[in-house]
Amino acid sequence: MAELLPVDDALARIVETAKPLATERVTVAAAAGRILREPARALVDLPPFPSSAMDGYAVRAADVPGELPVAFEIAAGSPPPGPLPPGAAAAISTGGTVPDGADAVVPVELVQDHGTRIAIAGQATGGQHVRPRGGDVREGDVVVEAGTTLGPAQIGALAASGIAEVTCSALPRVALLATGSELRAPGEPLGAGQIYESNRAMLAATLARIGADVDVLPVVEDDEAAHRAAIAGGLEADVLVSSGGVSMGEHDLVRRVAAELGVREIFWGVAVKPGKPLSFGARGGTLVFGLPGNPVSSLVGALVFVATGLRALQGAADARPRYAQGLTAAALSRNVHRDEFVRAVRVDDGDGVLLRPISGQESHMIVRAAVADSLVHVPRGDGEIPAGSPVRFLALD
Ligand code: AMP
Ligand code: MG
Repeated sequence: MAELLPVDDALARIVETAKPLATERVTVAAAAGRILREPARALVDLPPFPSSAMDGYAVRAADVPGELPVAFEIAAGSPPPGPLPPGAAAAISTGGTVPDGADAVVPVELVQDHGTRIAIAGQATGGQHVRPRGGDVREGDVVVEAGTTLGPAQIGALAASGIAEVTCSALPRVALLATGSELRAPGEPLGAGQIYESNRAMLAATLARIGADVDVLPVVEDDEAAHRAAIAGGLEADVLVSSGGVSMGEHDLVRRVAAELGVREIFWGVAVKPGKPLSFGARGGTLVFGLPGNPVSSLVGALVFVATGLRALQGAADARPRYAQGLTAAALSRNVHRDEFVRAVRVDDGDGVLLRPISGQESHMIVRAAVADSLVHVPRGDGEIPAGSPVRFLALD
């Protein structure tokens, strides 16, 4: 393995290699998790009319305190019959249209005598409890920028702005394969020297969550012909993700066979732990990730590197991993050569997020890793990061 590539350089190469996929129209209701490719603009002012923030009475602020006749009633969804006559009030529901002439709403709990006449003892200020037209957004203004991953708040904003469909990236089609003659499917009996195959199910779940249409291919024996057939098929997808067979052993065939099939290797060997022997290449527009077979290495490789590729293919404004900040609960020793992703559990102690490393940090220990909800990033270097220091982490949940 040549010089190990720093994590940030590896991410930069992935981003520059990924060319955005085609776009498609998606209904807003189905667009959660998708990446927007054209800015979405409001089709209306929001609110579309001055609306009441409270149940109460619409008045002219200058008319109160005082006793006022109730001219009419305004329910949400029914426009007022006309402007508010001078010296009068209108009963109004939350979301009702504040009539022309009125400039304030007095909440019902501050009003005495509800009938044909009301009495208001306190002052009112102009604009109180009135949501002005366009106060949230103006027609034609951008509601969500291109390159944004649509989460619940964005979906709500789009729908509220009258938008029924948006232009999103197509989802990357991912072909997922696992190599290794020792692998058996869960549910089958294990023979001597065999283990259960866990990476395909884990990676399929990981990649689908990040945003991908995953095609899970059969397990591939450590045999050249089997590798050739599987990799050739997988290269038809937008992304080929394999696990296993990228280390230095004589049964590690993925890189060689991929190269024979025209895959241009862009890097092999990243300064990361776990997951050092990760390989990345491309053939045409297809991105090719070779993840190491140890389950935690595969998981970290998928979350850090494959995820970046999937987001870049979809035109994300920033495709790189999004870290959150916390404090490490224990001292973390640094690896001189490699950035490390330490499995940890988050505890919110009221003053902030504390990250408590779990025991069992080896790359085959997927069951130990399963109690973790965070991957703490420990940059390579000398010495240790003392307990209580700020660190950044990727959420696993
Ligand atoms: P490799 O990267 O092929 O050298 O595999 C490294 C280690 O991960 C070996 O102990 C393999 O048995 C194990 N391994 C490889 N692929 C898988 C898989 N799909 N599921 C579970 N363990 C695996
Ligand atoms: Mg193997």
